[in-house]
Amino acid sequence: MRDRFGRKIDTLRISVTDRCNFGCLYCSGAFNKVRKEEILSFEEIIEIVKIFSNLGIEKIKITGGEPLIRKNITYLIGKISKIKGISDVSLTTNGFYLSEKMDEILNSGIKRINISLDTLKRDRFKIITGIDGLYRVLEGIDISRKYLKIKLNVVLMKNLNLDEIFDFIEFSKERDLILRFIEIMPVYKNLNFWKNNFVSYKEVIERLGNLKEVRFLSEKGNTKYFLFDDFVFGFITSVSEPFCYNCNKLRIDARGNLFLCLYGRPVLNLKMIERKGIEKTLEKIIYLKPKKRENLNLPLMNVVGG
Ligand code: SAM
Repeated sequence: MRDRFGRKIDTLRISVTDRCNFGCLYCSGAFNKVRKEEILSFEEIIEIVKIFSNLGIEKIKITGGEPLIRKNITYLIGKISKIKGISDVSLTTNGFYLSEKMDEILNSGIKRINISLDTLKRDRFKIITGIDGLYRVLEGIDISRKYLKIKLNVVLMKNLNLDEIFDFIEFSKERDLILRFIEIMPVYKNLNFWKNNFVSYKEVIERLGNLKEVRFLSEKGNTKYFLFDDFVFGFITSVSEPFCYNCNKLRIDARGNLFLCLYGRPVLNLKMIERKGIEKTLEKIIYLKPKKRENLNLPLMNVVGG
């Protein structure tokens, strides 16, 4: 499916819960709890994925909140993986429940996951997430890397982890992880924190450049890749250099709202509406995906899913 600017829209991110066991300083998780009955059921999610696969969606990313706290989530992943036309299902997680759920995750057929981790220091981890859980996440990384391809996502914050860039590079190199730094984004209720902690990718590259040569390699999807010290890492420059021209995504939040852009308004609620025969309407809506971020809305990150 192509939109009016010729972008191939092949990826759908689905938020399966707004709940999270972490309360990260930069996220919106502490605000606005969605009522249980408003949240999409597994049956609804499966039906929605079938509709979108008919429209040309091939890749599904399960997000949240924390997807691994939703009961039987691996059952859902297994079901989605078998839908005709879906070639890739992945999961983004804070890693806390990875080790205890490893067997069922592997049984679901998933091949790759994204793990979010912003510090390698126990005290800082507690400050950022509100949980004394670094050990569990590290354990989750060590177990899952044996079986799955792992992207490690690190949100950079000027006052909290900027001094750990090199440590993350070493950590990822040793464990064969695909490392991606992420520019912190303004989201619902984090504006002050964002203003105090934003650091652009150019500043980071400059910092690394003072240690050793950093070479820009390529840009793929939402990520710019760099070579540093024989290691390739990525940077998601959502704020300083948005990549809307490459955007291939749609999002569905935990309530079933369809978003054409993380910063847009919801365009349709797929829980409320009659879904039978809705493909034609969706095709017209998706065709109109905005060219660029319009900043109409600060996203409720835990509901829409990062
Ligand atoms: N709980 C899961 C996790 O930790 O990956 C999935 C949901 S979380 C909202 C998805 C991603 O969004 C995480 O990598 C998180 O760090 C990122 N994120 C949340 N708020 C953000 C912000 N203000 N700026 C940049 N990334 C953010």
